[in-house]
Amino acid sequence: MYKKYSVPGLIGLLLAVGFIGTSLSSYLVSKSQVRHTLVEQGLPQTGDTVYSEIQKEILRPTFIASMMARDTFLREWMLDGETDVTRISRYLHEITESYGMVASFLVSVKTAHYYYPEGILKQVSPNEPRDVWFYRSQLMDSPYEINIDVDLSNRDTVTFFVNHKVFDFNNKLIGVAGVGLTLDSFSRLIDDAQLRFNRTIYFVNDEGVVTAADRGEKSGQLSLSDMTGGADIQAAIRSRSIMPVQLTYQRDGREVIVSSRYIPELNWYLVVEQDDAQDVLPLQRIFYLNLLISLMIMIAVMSSIFYVINRFRRRLENAAATDPMTGLLNRQAFGLVFRQAVAEQARQGGDMAVMLLDIDHFKQVNDSFGHASGDQVIAFVVQHLRQTVREMDMIARWGGDEFFILLKQCNVAQAEKLAEKLCRAVERHPLQMDAGDCSVSVSIGVADYVPGESLSLVFARADKGLYAAKASGRNCVITGE
Ligand code: GH3
Ligand code: MG
Repeated sequence: MYKKYSVPGLIGLLLAVGFIGTSLSSYLVSKSQVRHTLVEQGLPQTGDTVYSEIQKEILRPTFIASMMARDTFLREWMLDGETDVTRISRYLHEITESYGMVASFLVSVKTAHYYYPEGILKQVSPNEPRDVWFYRSQLMDSPYEINIDVDLSNRDTVTFFVNHKVFDFNNKLIGVAGVGLTLDSFSRLIDDAQLRFNRTIYFVNDEGVVTAADRGEKSGQLSLSDMTGGADIQAAIRSRSIMPVQLTYQRDGREVIVSSRYIPELNWYLVVEQDDAQDVLPLQRIFYLNLLISLMIMIAVMSSIFYVINRFRRRLENAAATDPMTGLLNRQAFGLVFRQAVAEQARQGGDMAVMLLDIDHFKQVNDSFGHASGDQVIAFVVQHLRQTVREMDMIARWGGDEFFILLKQCNVAQAEKLAEKLCRAVERHPLQMDAGDCSVSVSIGVADYVPGESLSLVFARADKGLYAAKASGRNCVITGE
């Protein structure tokens, strides 16, 4: 049993190792390639695209603020004593309306008035935390700053402000003017980019607070420290500051790849992240498909091997058991069949007899007609033999022109009758050959099987009978004692 399965088993094992090995290694290589491309190209490119879109978004309000700061009407109105408030509020109103801004303002250094499209909103004070920006922007080196703050004139909505310094014609600072935009435009931009790239995009500030995200998220309230893997991102951003950051972390059992870059205009960090599932899943599917195909090939190969081996084995067994010329059992195989029959008789009872048949003067046939004709005579006798005995009886070619027949459920008298019938049948039918008709006859020795005796004993008695039949002129039946 062990030997029977060892070769197909080994081949199966080799196939399995080969198939699984190649599928797994190609899966792992493609997976790492996908990840590499994502880390090195995919995410940074998304970051670049979003950054350039953000720059464009920032450019317009910056340009409008700088135009306001240089506006001669605005400066002259301030220098003239800021008398007619309706004129400046109409001007500011025009700015918001024409350019689609949510806020426009002018704050005067001299009067500390905060002008907006509706008139005077308030008077700024250095002690008011909400007005700190005004005093800070007067001191800055650059002509403008970008400030994300709440808009006092618009229900404290988080707003993106461009604060531009305003100088008089002698280069003396007289105020700060500018415009404000809600962060909605950023969210819209993020929404579009997320949809386009199928990645999560958001901005965080130095403190790790999410400053802008898609419209589904609540920017300004969510903090990196509240998000899975957020602490890692913040630590990486902190440690690399303005350098691009790349890292991976686990979320819900999936690997998330993160890329981040610094946005100097806003002093924010742009974070682009993607879990690798969408890229790895198709690979996984191909991997499982490969395994399935391999399994099917393995089953096909293994079953063909089993089939071939079994067929080969059966053929070998048959070849060992039968005489190739007549297809009858050979002497060795007959021994086995005989033992089975003896056991069967011991169980069921009943009689058993044997016949030993030999063709008369067979040598003469060979000599006068040739060996091939001799073979024809053998086939002819076998044909008669088969027709005469029953299906359950066993015929063996004992050698040359000699045949041994085991007759089950048959006593010696019945055996003699059967042998006689066979003799007459062979005798009556001359064999037609190319060289002319050839009369064939056979001699048969019969013996009764004594329960328990060996094959050689019963054979010896049948042989005695046969010898006697030959001696008494052939073409007859004699029972051996
Ligand atoms: P007897 O009546 O005494 O049996 O005479 P016989 O000529 O038949 O003598 P014997 O049985 O000894 O002859 C057997 C011969 O059968 C000898 C051998 O050359 C021949 N023989 C054995 N096997 C084959 C075979 O497969 N084909 C052919 N054509 N001849 C065979
Ligand atoms: Mg003979």
